[in-house]
Amino acid sequence: MGWFERTYNRIKRSKKKVDIPDGLWTKCIKCGEIIYNKKLEENLRVCPQCGYHFYIGARKRLEITLDKDSFREYDSVITSDNPLNFPHYEEKLEKSRKETGLDEAAIIGEGRIGGKSIVVGVTDYGFMRGSMASVVGERITEAVEKAIEKRYPLLIISGSGGGARMQEGMISLMQMAKTSAAIARLKRERLLYLSLLTHATMAGVMASFASQGDIILAEPGALLGFTGPRVIKQTIRQQLPPGFQSSEFLFKHGMIDLIVKRDEIRPTLIKILNLILPGF
Ligand SMILES: [Zn+2]
Repeated sequence: MGWFERTYNRIKRSKKKVDIPDGLWTKCIKCGEIIYNKKLEENLRVCPQCGYHFYIGARKRLEITLDKDSFREYDSVITSDNPLNFPHYEEKLEKSRKETGLDEAAIIGEGRIGGKSIVVGVTDYGFMRGSMASVVGERITEAVEKAIEKRYPLLIISGSGGGARMQEGMISLMQMAKTSAAIARLKRERLLYLSLLTHATMAGVMASFASQGDIILAEPGALLGFTGPRVIKQTIRQQLPPGFQSSEFLFKHGMIDLIVKRDEIRPTLIKILNLILPGF
């Protein structure tokens, strides 16, 4: 048995989530398949074996969704403060900045999809788990206001497992009301709002702007909901139905409109925009 087979089999047998020499391979969280990283990137970070959708960062998300080189980021000088003097908040922010290359968990701007101009916002799960915070709420609100001002459709791609960011307390919570009020203004203006949910979209983000799209799309297998399944189970002391809070479960119960594989997202958005805004 050659070196490759021995290493491959050792990784495949391993129960550990990450045991990858030289950063060349990734072990699929769902099926255990060992995937060559280059192949994983080419496949838009979707497991070729089982279709598990791995996390991708906000900038990569914009790159694969928008027309090439069309994204123009809105300048934003606002940064997170530490209003509660929460211990180690600044260090956590700094760590996330280094890991993601972003200054906060949300990035906003405008670009084109299939030649149509659009305002776009993305929350990045990799930045403090995409948690709702003052800067996130402010930027999403700004994206909505820009869409109103320019009469462009709005696309928000959400990934948020962190809920309202506890380090900002009530200031973080009030962003739910602020972003929802902005979306309500957008709807009064009869502008299109497309919401794409990715793994995971939960809590404060899901309970505000992420679930308020005119058309709500989701990637397959994403965890979507408010409170996590473990907490619900402990609280109500009941078994939860199979697949509870997955994209497929929510689709079946009419909470989302479409489940779209990552490589089909861009063509699907183009199709939707062409259908709803043919002359735009
Ligand atoms: Zn897999």
